[in-house]
Amino acid sequence: MTSPRVEIDLGKIRANARYLVRRLGARGISVTGVTKAVCGHPDVAKAMLNGGVFGLADARVSNIIRMHAAGIRCPISIIRAPMAHETKDVIRFCDASYNTEMDTIQNLGAAAREKAIVHNIILMVEMGDMRDGVMPEDLNDVAAQVAATPGVALKGIAANFACLGNVAPTAGDLAMLSRLADQVEGECGPYVALVSGGGSANLPWALGEGSTGRVNNLRLGEAILLGTDPVTGHPITGLHTDAFALFAEVIETRDKPSAIPPASIVPEFGILKLVRNDDLRTRTILAVGQQDTDTSGLTFPSGVMFIGATSDHTVVDTVKSTVPVGSEMKMGMNYSALMRAMSAPDVAKTVHGKQKMNGSSKDCETQPYLTLV
Ligand SMILES: *Cc1c(COP(=O)(O)O)cnc(C)c1O
Repeated sequence: MTSPRVEIDLGKIRANARYLVRRLGARGISVTGVTKAVCGHPDVAKAMLNGGVFGLADARVSNIIRMHAAGIRCPISIIRAPMAHETKDVIRFCDASYNTEMDTIQNLGAAAREKAIVHNIILMVEMGDMRDGVMPEDLNDVAAQVAATPGVALKGIAANFACLGNVAPTAGDLAMLSRLADQVEGECGPYVALVSGGGSANLPWALGEGSTGRVNNLRLGEAILLGTDPVTGHPITGLHTDAFALFAEVIETRDKPSAIPPASIVPEFGILKLVRNDDLRTRTILAVGQQDTDTSGLTFPSGVMFIGATSDHTVVDTVKSTVPVGSEMKMGMNYSALMRAMSAPDVAKTVHGKQKMNGSSKDCETQPYLTLV
């Protein structure tokens, strides 16, 4: 098989999605599967759908078009505010878009009217992550403007946590999001059907004991794909953490002295200090590099230590066990490594455990989606 390559165990992704859908469903929260880290890979998207997610979301129109082209016809929303040139594609391929700017929303409304459809708008509210979002004090005003814009409908409000800042949301933050939903309804009329509380960073809160208030949706990427908490990097109980693995080929393996630490030589006095030099290490070079993945986000088999990487080489210390040239090494990836590997053209993607799809338009209608009530 060719390498470098990512091997994807779809069964584990289905199981992770199913587990989260069931646990969160019991708390009145639907799950939107976020596909951006896998560039909208259609098999991964289908595994999420087969695991029972309520719909899909991605940050890029190109990824959404890729899923559409593969026959996926379930509701897909775009979670990055659309650029002006994307307007027509967003109307055509996305059921809803997350927005913060009235100019963009008006463009979407105009394009939707041309097609005689109504496009759903979810307003992103700034709640401390300081990335995208309308300021809470301006939300009523913006919601009223959306409600008055032809061609679009206000479907919901949403918050973002731990994306730019790495801070987990508090129960107080989410209670505030619930209050904002009530406030928008009270002051400008439209029913706020979707209150989307954030991503995988919200799971400790959502799976906890406290009230979920009006929050009825989470947008989950990392937890479904990697089974980890984005804030701590720790595994989440009940989830598989090895649905993805990166394989790379060994292209050199050789004993080399570890570099002599410069501090051990004192040139002025010509003094040579004694330093440990039992340090003939076996260095192994893998044919994978920064261009293929985030090498600092890789985890290696036990006994293998990461030394460093350049654009095309990764050097590891194999502590005297020789790994033959031509053999492969299997590595785990964090979110950043996964995202880079999935978007790298020279990294092959191999899927295992493919199932018949529940994502063609016909199957979608029979899929037991949670309905927002
Ligand atoms: C990436 C993203 C998510 C998913 O975040 P995870 O931590 O992967 O669950 C949710 N919402 C928005 C707006 C995002 O950009």
